[in-house]
Amino acid sequence: MFNEAEHSVFLPHDRLAALLAAIRDGGWQCVGPRVEQGAIVMAPLAEGEDLPRGLQAEQAPGQYRLAADARQRYFAWANGPQAIKPLTFAPQESLWRVVRTTDGALAFEAVVPEAPKLAVIGVRACDLAALALQDAHFLRKDRVDAQYAARRAQLFLVAVQCAVPAATCFCASTGDGPTPTAGHDLALAELDDGFVVVAGSAPGRAVLQGLDLAAATPAQIAAARAQGDAAAAAQTRHLPGRDLREVLMARLKHPQWDAVAARCLACGNCTAVCPTCFCYAEHEMPALDGTSSLHARAWDSCFGETHGHLHGFNVRPDIRTRYRQWLTHKLAGWHDQFGRSGCVGCGRCIAWCPAGIDFTVEVAALTGASGAEGT
Ligand code: SF4
Ligand code: SF4
Repeated sequence: MFNEAEHSVFLPHDRLAALLAAIRDGGWQCVGPRVEQGAIVMAPLAEGEDLPRGLQAEQAPGQYRLAADARQRYFAWANGPQAIKPLTFAPQESLWRVVRTTDGALAFEAVVPEAPKLAVIGVRACDLAALALQDAHFLRKDRVDAQYAARRAQLFLVAVQCAVPAATCFCASTGDGPTPTAGHDLALAELDDGFVVVAGSAPGRAVLQGLDLAAATPAQIAAARAQGDAAAAAQTRHLPGRDLREVLMARLKHPQWDAVAARCLACGNCTAVCPTCFCYAEHEMPALDGTSSLHARAWDSCFGETHGHLHGFNVRPDIRTRYRQWLTHKLAGWHDQFGRSGCVGCGRCIAWCPAGIDFTVEVAALTGASGAEGT
């Protein structure tokens, strides 16, 4: 990505609004970075609204804080608490409704959202990789999730290369970043005066064509590529391998599970912010008059007490077994299900863990490798 072989154009900073207008002209509503409660979240962008500029997100285990970016870039923040996940896999929603008809029979009907065309501005490479994994789960040939599919089909993804990784990022070691390589409609690499832009789809090319932009110069393309390489080299955390299935499954009785369980609060923050976690629980919402009922779902977490509850007993009765389930599913079981690990190296589970538990340090302790600088 960002090389001489592909057609790149250059979008000056003062034409970013024109890009958003062209996307809107294509029928998409825009969602993008907004500062809310001290964090960068993905929220609807009003027409003509400027994106936040000159912000970085300083992140560490249990810490997230916005700070000034002297270069006044739009996308110097690495990532916020949300990825694309809430836009496709809703935190809570109805799946189907059952109604009692006048003759006493039960009529069932699916509840499928009318999803708008939605452009997401500022998607990161790790988020695209996570979306591909969510697709593998929710769009299986033998079982397509109708609600997810309805929203997924409407997405237009404007990805941005991470030039300033957070201290919690380790996407280079999982092979998922920091430069977007697949799954985007447009990919941007931000320089000090604008963006090198590449289209990754026919809709992306159509949006660019209307803007009449000049081709990116060889120097701009080289600068974009170089800052991606530098961002990868600057990451201090990593996983010790891309397939840890054998080594982790051989350590199910390792004392580190007890050590991490003593610190873990079982709050489930890590699974909520993780862009690949897909567990949910289903429940009924009957109408008080007894004539109908909604069948709904809400995100669930393997850290919750009820998640491991089977008929008459709990297969994961303590935090030790729940943390072990999360980490071994993510890094071992996913290889059996999806042919790769379920971690894309976004680091969100590290920054948003109230106990400051560092996923890479735990993996290092379990595998005997090093996970973060100095460990
Ligand atoms: S690892 Fe951290 S975020 Fe995850 S459940 Fe435990 S305390 Fe919560
Ligand atoms: S396990 Fe942590 S670092 Fe890996 S994808 Fe999930 S939130 Fe990101």
